[in-house]
Parts: sequence; C-alpha cells; structure tokens
Amino acid sequence: MSSIAQNLEKVRGRIAAAARKVGRDPAQVKLVAVSKTVDLARITEARDAGQEIFGENYLQEARGKIEALGPGAAWHFIGHLQTNKAKAAVGLFRLIHSVDRLHLAQALEKAAAGQQKVQEILLQVNLAGEASKSGAPPEAAPALLQEISRLPHLKVVGLMTMPPWFTDPEAVRPYFRALRELRERLLQLRICPLPELSMGMSGDFETAIEEGATLVRVGTAIFGQRD
Ligand SMILES: *Cc1c(COP(=O)(O)O)cnc(C)c1O
Repeated sequence: MSSIAQNLEKVRGRIAAAARKVGRDPAQVKLVAVSKTVDLARITEARDAGQEIFGENYLQEARGKIEALGPGAAWHFIGHLQTNKAKAAVGLFRLIHSVDRLHLAQALEKAAAGQQKVQEILLQVNLAGEASKSGAPPEAAPALLQEISRLPHLKVVGLMTMPPWFTDPEAVRPYFRALRELRERLLQLRICPLPELSMGMSGDFETAIEEGATLVRVGTAIFGQRD
C-alpha cells in the first residue's frame, strides 16, 4: 500500500473514531483532501485509494489538475476567491467554501446563470476577526445570508471557517463551537437549511468533528508536509 493510501486509511479511521465518540454517524463527515501544491501523481494515488473530494486554493493550479484527472473526483474551492475569477470557479468546482461578500456572490450568480448551473456555496466566516484571513464578520452573516439566498443560481448549503492557528486543538474548540452556534442562530431566521459545517484541518479535525463538522479539510496528514 502506498504511503498516501496508508495515510488516508489512518485519517478515515480517526474521523470515524471522533464521530463515534460524540455519537455521530461517521458517514456524516466528508473528507476533503486538500491538494494544493500536490502533484497529479500523488493526487491520482489518493483517488485510486478511494478519495473522492479534493480541495484546491488556487484557480490556476487547480485547472490543470481537474482537466487531467477527469470525472470521478469532486473538486471544492477552499481558497480566497477574487471576483474576476468567479466564472472560472463556477466552471470547475462543485462546492465553493469561501464566499464572504455580496459582491463575490453576485459575480458567482452571474457566472452560474450563464452556465445554466446552480452553484453550491458555503459562507466563510471570520470568527476571530483576524485581518490576515478572509471571511465575513459573524455579525454580518444574517444579512449576507438573506441577500445571497435571493440569488436564484446560488445555493447556500452551510458555513465554513478558518480559525486562528494554535498547536493545541483544544484552543481551537471555541471557534468550532462558535460556528455551530452561529448556524443555530441563522437557522432561526428560516432562510434555508444549512447542513454543512466546513471546519477542521490536519491538526484539529477530530475536535472539529466533535463540534459538528461535516466537511473536514485535510492536507498534510494525507500528503505530507508541503514545501
Ligand atoms: C491548506 C488548507 C487546509 C489544509 O491544511 P493542513 O493543515 O495541511 O491539513 C485546510 N483549509 C484551508 C482553507 C487551507 O488553505
């Protein structure tokens, strides 16, 4: 078995254990293999080991990989998205995790309408207010959700966050919990269901699953350290 296949097996085992620990069905947690900077050969290894969803941060880099790998994989966009790349993103990705402003949503709406597609998206929220990170402030989320839900070619299916970085996963737990609680508040507005919570990376995905993650974005633990 290749090391990538072994890593995947380990990560899947850890996902299942974390889910069971809190009484969740492991099938409710989808693994997004974050393949930024990872070459096609190693992505193919992961796909051959049964991995279906891949996450990419950079459009230019993703395009070649998506075209080369062909159908059989689902690609998610997880990086910061510039408005002028909306059209390309809609053509390439099944789910865009990083919608954090109305202007971007409007550009995606236009692109999706042009491609006769309903684009699934997540609202990215910046819970700690870090200037270095993308994401809408949580207090802006209700209005943003309200406005985006009126766009007929976009479907908001949940929330995403990228919390501050800590070595101790327990230090991140309050942010994961805050995203779940924000979802509960948004659900009270009865705008749309928000089944997905995209949170947790290599260092803290088990904690994220304990707090309700349905999409964990894991790179290093599958593919090894990036250069
Ligand atoms: C790179 C990246 C990840 C994966 O990080 P690892 O620590 O390698 O698991 C997850 N989410 C986003 C948004 C990223 O940019």
